[in-house]
Amino acid sequence: MILIFLGPPGSGKGTQAKRLTAKKNWPQLSTGDMFRANIAQKTPMGLAAKKFMDDGQLVPDEVVIGMIKARIEDPDCANGFIFDGFPRTIPQAEALDSMLAAKGLKVDRAIEFKIDDSELVGRLSGRRTCTKCGTMYHVITMPTKVDGVCDKCGGSVVQRDDDHESVIAKRLNVYHAQTAPLVAFYAGQGKLKTLDAIQPMDMVFEALQKAI
Ligand code: AMP
Repeated sequence: MILIFLGPPGSGKGTQAKRLTAKKNWPQLSTGDMFRANIAQKTPMGLAAKKFMDDGQLVPDEVVIGMIKARIEDPDCANGFIFDGFPRTIPQAEALDSMLAAKGLKVDRAIEFKIDDSELVGRLSGRRTCTKCGTMYHVITMPTKVDGVCDKCGGSVVQRDDDHESVIAKRLNVYHAQTAPLVAFYAGQGKLKTLDAIQPMDMVFEALQKAI
């Protein structure tokens, strides 16, 4: 099963991908997480990507495509995977189709997490993430028990650089201009399912399982 999670930042793609991975064992391929890991390790790719990320812009297509091409060769991808935050442009989607076709594979479903921008600013500006295990929190709706410490692994829980309000508006604009056209792209391929992402997490997860 090859799934694509499409939706603006803060729509819950990462949270739902983690839940589905725990249930089905299809790895979550989050390009944002891959870039953040590269930044933490100070690799040349991480340092180059950071400039775009901090500014709320997309990392150039060829960098992202190369990274994904290598990742889907890993043995844990043999039974399927979930793309979280990839593709984000039409050229990325076309490159994905051809790299999968070369392996005799195809995208099975694209899941759109639909939600209004007005809801997202509060979600993103209050979002906090564990730097060690990736668990996500929210200062109001899901705070950590101890300030700045992950309930699950004891790692340090911080605000992402691009979750500051000054960058959020830019990221939403980039989503509408460059990523939202993928909704029509996958609808045209008959692969699109749309979820109401404003519902509580458990209801979104139920709808997600029905959709796949
Ligand atoms: P995310 O964690 O998915 O919100 O991604 C954080 C940032 O990483 C984005 O704002 C982009 O700068 C970069 N990024 C992640 N995935 C992609 C992608 N598929 N194409 C281009 N840039 C990406």
